[in-house]
Amino acid sequence: MANFKLGKNSLNELQGVHPDLVAIVQRAIVLTAQDFGVHDGLRTLEEQKKLIATGASQTLDSRHLTGHAVDLVPYFNGKLRWEWPPIYVIADAVRTAARELNTPLRWGGAWDVDFTASNDSPEDLVADYVSRRRAAGQRAFIDGPHYELPRAKYP
Ligand SMILES: [Zn+2]
Repeated sequence: MANFKLGKNSLNELQGVHPDLVAIVQRAIVLTAQDFGVHDGLRTLEEQKKLIATGASQTLDSRHLTGHAVDLVPYFNGKLRWEWPPIYVIADAVRTAARELNTPLRWGGAWDVDFTASNDSPEDLVADYVSRRRAAGQRAFIDGPHYELPRAKYP
């Protein structure tokens, strides 16, 4: 175990987030081989509007607005970095945590997959998702740090 801990900013971001999702994040930081920070948990409508304006999000119906989503970003030497290889390492730990806790999870790397139940590597899930979207003539919006509780079980 790499012995990472959530910092003060991460713990602040988790305030107002659904306890089932907080439990996954807290277990994932223990399991992960890659340190991460909680970049975003609960969001206000104003924050969401700004993210849409910059293209960082596509919907006003975000699960961040209701405390059902978190963004977990790789953390290196005091800084958050949006990079895929470490994002995949974190995704692996999050999936293991979700399985242990028996909580279904949707991942922004492959939105249409039951992430907790999936068996492919996170990298393959993203590649397959992008191929499926392209085959359907649609753009693939992928958001590797994003995890959310599915609406079907958490309305
Ligand atoms: Zn997000």
